[in-house]
Amino acid sequence: MKRLFSIENLTVIGIVLGVLVGYYLPEFAYGIKFLGDAFLDILKAIAIPLIFVSVFVSIASLSSISDLKDMGGKAIAYYFLTTALAVFTGIVVVNLIGFGDSVSVQKNSEEVIKHTFTIKSFIESLIPDNIFKSFVEGKVLQIIIFSILLAVATLYLERRKKEIVSGFMDGLNDAFIKLAKWVITLTPLGVFSLVAYVVADKGLGTIISLWHYVVVVVIGLFIHAVFNLGIIAYVFGKVNPFKYFLKVREALLVAFSTSSSSATLPVSLEVATEKAGIKKKVAGFVLPLGATINMDGTALYESVAAMFVAHVYGIELSLAEQVIIFLTATLAAVGAAGIPSAGLVTMTLVFTAVGLPLEGIAVILAVDRFLDMIRTSINVWGDLIGAKIIDRFVK
Ligand code: ASP
Repeated sequence: MKRLFSIENLTVIGIVLGVLVGYYLPEFAYGIKFLGDAFLDILKAIAIPLIFVSVFVSIASLSSISDLKDMGGKAIAYYFLTTALAVFTGIVVVNLIGFGDSVSVQKNSEEVIKHTFTIKSFIESLIPDNIFKSFVEGKVLQIIIFSILLAVATLYLERRKKEIVSGFMDGLNDAFIKLAKWVITLTPLGVFSLVAYVVADKGLGTIISLWHYVVVVVIGLFIHAVFNLGIIAYVFGKVNPFKYFLKVREALLVAFSTSSSSATLPVSLEVATEKAGIKKKVAGFVLPLGATINMDGTALYESVAAMFVAHVYGIELSLAEQVIIFLTATLAAVGAAGIPSAGLVTMTLVFTAVGLPLEGIAVILAVDRFLDMIRTSINVWGDLIGAKIIDRFVK
């Protein structure tokens, strides 16, 4: 009975009820939106300091710099290879299935266009000029970079000082995880409210007009999650992907409903260490970094979206242009923050690279929130598999 009413199962029920309430009782869904917002806010409140502390602890607790190189190199290799594989899968699926001819153009892409993403702005965004400002503005990459530097510096301190600093941060890290556990018990309610609101606000009908595009993205994501990542998990992580999925599903459900890898981080860390048995130092390093730069779902979706918009505008994409999409979508996904709709903004890089009109983003806006839910779950799934694999190779 207790198992039946586990948080994971209640969360699934929350999603189903959310869809029903959002569809049949939209007014009520709007009325309870504040519950989901509160849930998301508290997750975000924990996520930012947690990212700082957990990256710090995972590095400062290493015995040497070579350990860091070992883990860092493997993590980066995993992130890039799987992201590239995701984009490749997206492009192949588009070439095989195509989009048919369903189209519905909406206006309102000004917001996105205002924040055009370029390689220069990306590099600039990595370097903090005021670390407190980075915290206030939630600039996760800057926070991670600063945390890595500070932790590496700590490794060079004399033993007594090093122990004081790392001991304090380690305790703080545990306290944050404890806090996260309390918040996790509210997941079913938060998820119910968030899903109900999205369905009430966007309506399931919008999906229908763009269904060809939605289907291609979903098929691509499915293939990547089940086959690509599943096989990688089995071969390199020596883990049965289905069983692993059951262990970590709580994090995937939270990712689905919050559309934010960063907000999901407290939950991912918890399931990785408590349920999947991943070492704390590995989870503390691989997951925060992954939540920020490893986005397989986003990368795949950006490549498909660019090809879809080209299709709508009647632009033929040559093989060379598809290669450019492949490269830029991989990079754009790295640059996307782990927050809702971040992928929509960094997609401007892909559009600019192949000369697609930025207004084209308006075409896919209507279904973006739905696809964000799915791609964020895949982003987090990729992070969790990465953690499992790297855990196996790190002593
Ligand atoms: N919402 C995604 C995430 O947080 C990013 C995106 O694709 O918009 O992982």
